[in-house]
Amino acid sequence: MSRPTASTSSIEGEPLRPTASAAKAREPMNVLIVGVGGQGVIMVSKALASLAQSKGYQVKQSEVHGMAKRGGTVFSHVRFGPQVWSPTIPKGEADILVALEWAEGLRWLPFLKAETGIFICDTKRIVPPFACLNRRPGAPLRYSRETPAEVRAHVAEGYAIDATRMAEELGNERAANVVLIGALSTALEFSAADWEQALAQFVPKKTIAVNLDAFRLGRNWIEEERTAVDDAEAPLAHIPAPAAAPYNVRLEITPAWCKSCDICVKLCPERCLRLNQERIVELAQPEKCTGCRLCELLCPDFAIRVHLDAVAKEVAAMPGAKA
Ligand code: SF4
Ligand code: SF4
Repeated sequence: MSRPTASTSSIEGEPLRPTASAAKAREPMNVLIVGVGGQGVIMVSKALASLAQSKGYQVKQSEVHGMAKRGGTVFSHVRFGPQVWSPTIPKGEADILVALEWAEGLRWLPFLKAETGIFICDTKRIVPPFACLNRRPGAPLRYSRETPAEVRAHVAEGYAIDATRMAEELGNERAANVVLIGALSTALEFSAADWEQALAQFVPKKTIAVNLDAFRLGRNWIEEERTAVDDAEAPLAHIPAPAAAPYNVRLEITPAWCKSCDICVKLCPERCLRLNQERIVELAQPEKCTGCRLCELLCPDFAIRVHLDAVAKEVAAMPGAKA
């Protein structure tokens, strides 16, 4: 599978299948969007619901985001068609399942139509804190081990998309949900221009440009994927392998994203974080930090990234070097 690149052009080609037209003629179209708190699940469903409504469909949307914190499940059902009676999608009746997190996607697979359902899933892994049984860097985690190839074998049509990495490369990790909207858009009849217009209403004004790029990237990726030679393991290739010791731990903090919630400060097992005078998190005692990544996993605002930088072997071998 070829590595996607950023592009600013839109695809105006045919949808994967004219599903929305079918909905207009007969049954409601059922789109299930799932992820965890902070990923923008609700924004995806609102953009879709708004667009469908603007095209004259009856729309019903229901969502659960009471646990909308990092690690908490968030899902939204969007149903649209000439007549929609119920706001929820029964098991086995989703036409499209869009997952913003890998394990959440797998968890919701039973809702997908067995014969025709389309599965679009970010390969992003957000490991819940209870899966971090061992705080050592590189320690095994309790997390789904299924590969995209294994999952694809069990769905009618499946796409494992590296949306978070694509959004990162565009300069805004938070636009990953819009990369997925771009992918989703190819399965529905609405035009790219209509999608872009709808999106512009749901993202902050200053991020419209990057979000439109993210949308086009997702659309283009699906187009490439449909013609690419099958290379089933490629989508997971970006997930960094556990760093082998010796390593240096480096925290990357994005002050603009820190909302001073104090979660990381309270839950850091080594108590090495604090809020500074501006109430922005900072690493107060770097020598105590083990690189366990709990702060990164728990921060609801993506404000912390933990990097385990390998130390050159010759440096590691020096007397007194960190082992
Ligand atoms: S870094 Fe994240 S978890 Fe920590 S205080 Fe800021 S917003 Fe809260
Ligand atoms: S600062 Fe983060 S990575 Fe370091 S010990 Fe605390 S929770 Fe773990």
